Amino acid sequence: MADVTRRTLFGSTVGLAGAGLIAPALAATLTGGQQEPQDLRGVVKDGTVTLPPLHQASEANGTVPNPMPPNRRLGVAVVGLGALALENIIPGFAEAKSVRLVALVSGEPDKARIVAAQHGVPEKNLYDYANFDRIKDNPEIDVVYIVLPNALHAEFTVRAAQAGKHVLCEKPMAASVAEAQSMVDACKAANRSLMIAYRLQYTPEHRTIIQMARSKAYGSVQMIEAVNGQNDAPNGQWRQIKSMAGGGSLPDVGLYCLNAFRYITGEEPVAITAQMTQPKNDPRFREIEDVAMFTLRFPSGVVASGTSAYSFHESRFLRVHAQTGWFGIDPAFGYDNLQLAINRKAGKASATETRRFTPHSQFAQEMDAFAASLHARQEPRTGGAEGLQDMKLMAAIYQAAAGGGVVTLPEVSGLDTTRGPWPEALGAFVPA
Ligand code: NDP
Repeated sequence: MADVTRRTLFGSTVGLAGAGLIAPALAATLTGGQQEPQDLRGVVKDGTVTLPPLHQASEANGTVPNPMPPNRRLGVAVVGLGALALENIIPGFAEAKSVRLVALVSGEPDKARIVAAQHGVPEKNLYDYANFDRIKDNPEIDVVYIVLPNALHAEFTVRAAQAGKHVLCEKPMAASVAEAQSMVDACKAANRSLMIAYRLQYTPEHRTIIQMARSKAYGSVQMIEAVNGQNDAPNGQWRQIKSMAGGGSLPDVGLYCLNAFRYITGEEPVAITAQMTQPKNDPRFREIEDVAMFTLRFPSGVVASGTSAYSFHESRFLRVHAQTGWFGIDPAFGYDNLQLAINRKAGKASATETRRFTPHSQFAQEMDAFAASLHARQEPRTGGAEGLQDMKLMAAIYQAAAGGGVVTLPEVSGLDTTRGPWPEALGAFVPA
């Protein structure tokens, strides 16, 4: 190993500074000479640290995450240790700034013990589905995050609310409208908050689309289209059992299209048509639909077309057609790599601009947003009313597909009638 003495370090740093590879001030600091100006070494204010940008404003500059200290974060119990919980939600806690993982609920004790050890959850905070109600005696748990098959969402939301805990529940909210309503009622009766985990509504990509549509950045929106399809394994998973899932591709992935049409316009549809397929020779579709295609008409005149499927290769896009341009996201509904595109005329040419945001865990963003609403004692942006409305509209889509006609719905006046405030409007701690 080289003998790094103060003299060789001095010589090399001076050389690097002379060559313009490091700043002269840094070279001076490394050699025990003059310090950098204090404001270049970070500003401490109100319990946060800010560093100055290293680069010109035209370049990408980092930000200090400034999470809440762990003992001030809300404690979350994750219920159901399946694919989404293990692959996405639990890893997302590493990026979350105002929540922490404190408990696990699982029907598989061996799995729960391993996951607990991996993530620093004490064994005393492991529960199963039978003793779940004992969470009421655990003050470390503020929020229960339900990541179970759809038909179990209602039971565990009701039990969590009765145990005095706030609830974050995966989409779709439930397997039926009646179950979804029971969740809203139970949380209201227990004075607990309920949020449905519509992660995409908290992402910069989807928020940019909302902003472009509502500000008429490219004129009035005329039509919105979205496809969310994937090819599911024929393994008898609960998604292929109607009583567990509540339906097929529509509530699982078509819901993203439906929800997007609603949050982009802010409106509720007044007319619905639909077509579905259920291939007879494919065991995956004994009980549920494969392709679900539906159209919506909104009071402003905007129309939307959504398609979901369990039988074709990943296709996940969203496109908003406006008068002087189209804008959208492709892929639009996954956990990462979302890419925004805008197409408009540039002189005599047609120009397409693409944009990618710095990647962040969508699950961290969504959990932090729930924490912000709890600190502010306000409705979350995507509360029970948002999930319940989608459940009602999916019931109307099934009705339209079965009857082959148009299902009409009463007009709802106003925008965002099922949504709470955006997290940054709450005046509570909102992570940067
Ligand atoms: P998985 O089947 O992978 O996991 C579900 C877990 O629930 C199981 O591992 C099991 O955990 C527990 N469970 C309890 N009872 C049952 C039962 N009778 N049958 C099967 N599992 C049971 O599902 P996912 O993780 O993919 O989905 C869970 C929820 O998350 C669903 O509501 C789904 O719609 C939603 N989801 C949301 C996504 C999003 O992007 N927001 C993406 C994917 C899913 P244990 O062994 O610990 O008891």
